[in-house]
Amino acid sequence: MLKVPTPVAQSLAPYEGLLDDSLLEELESLGSSLKGARVAHINATATGGGVAEILNSILPLYRGLGVDASWLVLQGEDGFFDVTKRLHNSLQGATGGISANDWEIHAEWNRRNASLITSEYDVIIVHDPQPAALREFARRAASKWVWRCHIDTSEPDEDAWRVLSGLIYEFDAAVFSLPDFVGPRMEHLPISIIPPAIDPFIAKNKPMSKDDAMAVVARFGLDPDRPFISQVSRFDPWKDPLGVIDCFKILKKDHLDLQLAMLGNFADDDPEGQVMYERVLEAAGGVLDLHIITDLTDLVGPFQAQSKVILQKSLREGFGLTATEALWKGTPVVAGNVGGLRLQVSNDIGGFLVDSVEECAEKVDYLLNHEEERVALGASGRERVRTQFLLPRLLRDELKLLNSLVNSE
Ligand code: UDP
Repeated sequence: MLKVPTPVAQSLAPYEGLLDDSLLEELESLGSSLKGARVAHINATATGGGVAEILNSILPLYRGLGVDASWLVLQGEDGFFDVTKRLHNSLQGATGGISANDWEIHAEWNRRNASLITSEYDVIIVHDPQPAALREFARRAASKWVWRCHIDTSEPDEDAWRVLSGLIYEFDAAVFSLPDFVGPRMEHLPISIIPPAIDPFIAKNKPMSKDDAMAVVARFGLDPDRPFISQVSRFDPWKDPLGVIDCFKILKKDHLDLQLAMLGNFADDDPEGQVMYERVLEAAGGVLDLHIITDLTDLVGPFQAQSKVILQKSLREGFGLTATEALWKGTPVVAGNVGGLRLQVSNDIGGFLVDSVEECAEKVDYLLNHEEERVALGASGRERVRTQFLLPRLLRDELKLLNSLVNSE
């Protein structure tokens, strides 16, 4: 178990004027009833993917309100992360299953990590299935245990869910992003539905002039004088990068000058990334004006801001911070009609939801041909993000849950 260096406390002052005073006041009040509470978030990677993104930004706000929050990251070898990625895939509905031996590897790494938890906490929040067995081996490390699911478990492989729900059974609460994701054998647990959120003040989400943003885009090989669309995602089959390429090929027939930027990164806990990356390179071979750009973090912002449309053509999606980030910049999103993307995009707000490659191409084509609607959808999406998907709302929901757990006795 690695402890991510304790972040510097941050106040909510930058949100004054951006969000309702009542929300900020509620946070101060929740914070005061949780002052000094020891809370640990535990996940599987400090870099790459949405969970790391959120924890990086929310921990300083916890501390700003006086909560003694820390962040621990599981350690494991390739064999463990191979199992946990297959487990992630099974929980999102892939076939293939998790064998008894796989679960033993999962348990063994959870046991080893559990022995490295040296402090005691009021609450431990375990993110996703990778650390889900920690409670079995470190029960006394916390008074209360919360399981926080970030993935789309609307149609899980039944066996994988059965074993996982057994691990969660004795937890004190569980959190999902959507009601659809709550599976069987959770009925006895207090369940909170809490969608994720973004930090509008980090580098990738800060406003940048069009000229500066276009200079970045040009630096990575795109022609700044021609329109472009982008998808920003880990190289992961659930993000359907091959569908994005097929969609672009259809669009190219009528939009000769259109360019596609596929921005992708790799997460430490995702061994599938490299394999998928190679498949994407192969599929992209010979496709004109298709740019594959890896490992940008802050610089995804200029692409999200200046794309005509952002694609998030996921086949399953827990939430999809990439859609939130794009909408926050006023760029409409054409998104797979799945999971958390449905919370963000709804055909008259933010963009369009699509069920196929053809429909995806049709909606992007529509937006490219209807500038006023394109701009209006982006603007409505930004307003929805402001009211629903910025960090203070997420922090409020989490603190409410913590308050009910810590101050319940
Ligand atoms: N991201 C990035 N560079 C990339 C691709 C993704 O910085 O090349 C970031 C993206 O901006 C977002 C996060 O990784 O903040 C992905 O979160 P999301 O919830 O969309 O997906 P996840 O990877 O957690 O499934």
